[in-house]
Amino acid sequence: MSTSLPRFRPADQPLTDYDVIIIGAGSAGLSAALVLGRCARSVLVCDGGSPRNAPSPAVQGFMTRDGTRPAELLRLARRDLEPYTTVEIRESRVIELSVQENGFEVTAETDATRPFRATARKVLLATGVADELPPIDGMRELWGRGVLHCPYCHGWEVREQPLAVYGRGKGVTGLALLVSRWSKDVVVCTDGPGGLTDKNRQRLAAQGIGVREEAIVRLEGSRSRQLKQVVFTDAEPLPRHALFVHPHQHQRTTLAETVGCRITAKHAVWTDKKQQTSVFGLYAAGDTTAGLQQAMLAAAEGAKAGININERLTKEECR
Ligand SMILES: Cc1cc2nc3c(=O)[nH]c(=O)nc-3n(C[C@H](O)[C@H](O)[C@H](O)COP(=O)(O)OP(=O)(O)OC[C@H]3O[C@@H](n4cnc5c(N)ncnc54)[C@H](O)[C@@H]3O)c2cc1C
Repeated sequence: MSTSLPRFRPADQPLTDYDVIIIGAGSAGLSAALVLGRCARSVLVCDGGSPRNAPSPAVQGFMTRDGTRPAELLRLARRDLEPYTTVEIRESRVIELSVQENGFEVTAETDATRPFRATARKVLLATGVADELPPIDGMRELWGRGVLHCPYCHGWEVREQPLAVYGRGKGVTGLALLVSRWSKDVVVCTDGPGGLTDKNRQRLAAQGIGVREEAIVRLEGSRSRQLKQVVFTDAEPLPRHALFVHPHQHQRTTLAETVGCRITAKHAVWTDKKQQTSVFGLYAAGDTTAGLQQAMLAAAEGAKAGININERLTKEECR
């Protein structure tokens, strides 16, 4: 079926290469592309690598795709875009974003060609975040299988197993209490003095959660990246099936900062209810924005951004 729908662009509207450029082809970006493709918008999607959950064996809790490999979920999302021929995907990393009189210009580099430039009336940032894992031997190697970030994503897979929760103070207390929903054998590992108040300790003890404050030397795992034990400097190792940690994180790109977007205290890109950032015409969706971080929620935000972008473009075109 032809996708040559009328473009409704009055003569006074700016002529850009695309209506929309989407930066990032994870759940948020591809979901937005689907909505915009179905609006017959010309869209360029630039993607520069793997999604945040690439080290994980499966995406859990994604309706109709529970347990699908991360790469497979995105392959299916890209397949859904095939009928919408106004959507183009280029494996390319956006290295520059600038605000122009009539919209935006991006500069992107690819492995195969020289950097290219493209312009669009609106841009969607869906570049996600990167996790900063504590510098403990084994943490990075086991990340996504024996070291987990979210019980909503992976609690079910390790239910009723001996679990560890890494961190300090109020943060580790909250995470350990949450994890105790999935297992009654939970031990907090603080890797040195835990900064736990008496109240923290009471709340943990009330749920039967132990505390180990010895320094950690390394995490030991199996060849399949399952955690086997937490090894301390001066104490018996602690056999565990998995360890939960809430790592610090940072934005995968500085593109939002460079164009002057408002950034929240927790380093997320601020958006209004329509997913628009503080820069007019620049939208953001997925992990890059504030709030809960899950693949399904990122996809939902992407869809919302897609609708709001199309509404805005339509308003500008049909005056
Ligand atoms: C180990 C792990 C396991 C997880 N498991 C689950 C789970 O089971 N269920 C669940 O719901 N959630 C899970 N999550 C959370 C989930 O991965 C994220 O919420 C989701 O990936 C967010 O989607 P996104 O599109 O915002 O970002 P991402 O999926 O991270 O996608 C961002 C995309 O932007 C690209 N990009 C970045 N910078 C540029 C640039 N400059 N130019 C072009 N492209 C760029 C990246 O390469 C990437 O493809 C997990 C997270 C982790 C870390």
